[in-house]
Amino acid sequence: QTNERESMYLVSEFAKKYFHTTLLNSEEGKAIGYTYFKERGFTAETIKKFELGYSPESWDALTKEALGKGYQLQYLDKTGLTIVKEDKQFDRFKGRVMFPIQSMSGRVLGFGGRILTNDKKAAKYLNSPESDIYHKSKVLYGIYHAKQSIAKLDNCYLVEGYTDVIQFHQAGIENVVASSGTALTPDQIRLINRLTKNITVLFDGDAAGLRASIRGIDLILEEGMNVKVCTFPDGEDPDSFAKKNSYDDLVHYLEHNAKDFIQFKASMLMDESKNDPVKKAGLIRDMVTSIAKIPDRIQREVYIQETARIMDISEQVLVNTLAQLVEKDS
Ligand code: ATP
Ligand code: MN
Ligand code: MN
Ligand code: MN
Repeated sequence: QTNERESMYLVSEFAKKYFHTTLLNSEEGKAIGYTYFKERGFTAETIKKFELGYSPESWDALTKEALGKGYQLQYLDKTGLTIVKEDKQFDRFKGRVMFPIQSMSGRVLGFGGRILTNDKKAAKYLNSPESDIYHKSKVLYGIYHAKQSIAKLDNCYLVEGYTDVIQFHQAGIENVVASSGTALTPDQIRLINRLTKNITVLFDGDAAGLRASIRGIDLILEEGMNVKVCTFPDGEDPDSFAKKNSYDDLVHYLEHNAKDFIQFKASMLMDESKNDPVKKAGLIRDMVTSIAKIPDRIQREVYIQETARIMDISEQVLVNTLAQLVEKDS
């Protein structure tokens, strides 16, 4: 079992190098992949640091190369790099720019591959499948390159995508990881919790997902961590915003727009409910549900005071609702 996983790591490491070399040295990789990254504003240094790559527009270029080097088909299959159908073999990734996904210790677990067009109909990103070495719910993109900075600065920025992580690094902010489009899981939060108790969640400025994402944040409170949230202007994400602004302006923006999660949620819900009393009753329960997740009693009290102020209700109403919730739980 250990040997099987070891073989999967080895073939993944090979694929990472193959995609990277193909990006830097092949005619197709240079003309298509490298040009794409350059147009997105990534420097040669950044491309090297994250070992970005390119998978050629071919049925089986990687598979052939790997088999030729003595890697076994079963591990190409198990990692999902090769799709095996009857007696035929196909590369999973074709004509995409490649983002290797690494563990905390730097091992390659899988890949994200992006199409080069902005075709709204095609799936933009294709990822490696779940495997014995790649458990999506336990991985954060960028953790290997971010861990030192997270520990040193005692804060972690959590973004949505690969390119957000990379553009932040290039801008000089290295304490950043991405959930890569999936809802945040307890295992991912614990990974960060090993390095810091402070998370700042950065949301794409596309409002759509905001309400749903807010729910996932209760999980961070449950771990006893401090959460701030920060949104970006409409249509911007951390990548596009960092690209347009200087380091100073970016840092300034983050400092001034990061809000404590409880305050943020209370204000957001208040805006939505206006003065509808039925909605307001619902959002009191919603807020108290979040507050109830906080393990520390004193911190809960502080949040009750703040929430009462923001929602313009008495603390007692919140305290009573909290007591009811706790009763139901036990
Ligand atoms: P880009 O800037 O390259 O367009 P992005 O990171 O801004 O990408 P988003 O649409 O904001 O893309 O999605 C955030 C993350 O969600 C992506 O980085 C990727 O990990 C994941 N994701 C997005 N679309 C898909 C998809 N079709 N299939 C799988 N994962 C996806
Ligand atoms: Mn988005
Ligand atoms: Mn985005
Ligand atoms: Mn983007």
